Amino acid sequence: MRQLRAHICLLAAAGLILPVTAQALTGEITKLGRVSVGEVLPGARPGALPSSYQLDMWKQEETAILVGLDPRSAWTAEDAHAIFGALERSRRELPALYQTLFELSRQGSKAGLPNPLPREKAAGWTNRNAVAAVVIVSASFGDVNLGRAMASNFYWLGKPKDAIYTNVPFLALDPDVIGGAIPGLGPMAIYPGRAPEEARRVYMSEGLIDSLLHERVHAYISQYYGHDALYAALRPSVPQPRCEYDLEELLVVDFLLSEYRQTALFASGYLRYWDGQQKLLRQRVKGQQCYARLRGRNLLKGPLLRNERPNAAAAGPTVETWLPSNQRLQLTPNSWFESVRGAVLAARAVSQR
Ligand SMILES: [Zn+2]
Repeated sequence: MRQLRAHICLLAAAGLILPVTAQALTGEITKLGRVSVGEVLPGARPGALPSSYQLDMWKQEETAILVGLDPRSAWTAEDAHAIFGALERSRRELPALYQTLFELSRQGSKAGLPNPLPREKAAGWTNRNAVAAVVIVSASFGDVNLGRAMASNFYWLGKPKDAIYTNVPFLALDPDVIGGAIPGLGPMAIYPGRAPEEARRVYMSEGLIDSLLHERVHAYISQYYGHDALYAALRPSVPQPRCEYDLEELLVVDFLLSEYRQTALFASGYLRYWDGQQKLLRQRVKGQQCYARLRGRNLLKGPLLRNERPNAAAAGPTVETWLPSNQRLQLTPNSWFESVRGAVLAARAVSQR
């Protein structure tokens, strides 16, 4: 079974200026030179780019993160390092979330979501990522039919027996959109009144972190859609129609906003922008079929998943424990299901509106 999943974010964003402090990165960044994704991760396809397409690529061994810049873009080595720096800041400020999104599924079959399938059909490889993330900076990464966006993702999900690496989360940034080339999209929509270069500069110090986390949450749903009823319902299958874009976007935004309010990563203006987007999404979702369908199946107020992980029940509250919608999500290290509970809270919040 091999599945390709792509999800595009039309609302990727940025905020106000935070002081950019020079921080030492966790691990050394190695320049791999101009190589293709196919050369580094044989079998993996980077979105709409051919796997043979050559990128200027860097790798941080310790975090298992790759960054590839399209040589046709104007982004520099400094920008590539800013991507590593953004992920580093998210790891420091939101360690439990970072661990859930970028580290746990590299730890083998005991990590990630439990699998509801019989043992002989269990897709334990969903918990074995080849790398934590491959961040691609290219205007050609996304499916042209989905339109342009500041950020997008493409989850390469499959059995490793077909290729060496088929389980790779790609997170993509569109340098043209971030540079202000597409009217109405990109950092200028979040930083009104600023020149494109200034909006981009602020974005690189603040919103970039959000874009990378946001896309990885979508990719997390893609990764575990076979393990979880809500995740599965958000993705098309026969005879299930494709969900409207808005519901998943709202779930992701709700979840991340609650995370962000625990940190100093984002200025108040940035959070206000997303509060506004959140309200718009809530209004739109109410009239949409997917929302009605998932609500009718109790997926937006019932348990998100059945926890089959050994000892997990003793480790803390399960997702069946409904919490007040205003209760803060408390993520703790090594507590993967806590992050899922965040999505439950977000879904419940939607169902109450
Ligand atoms: Zn999104």
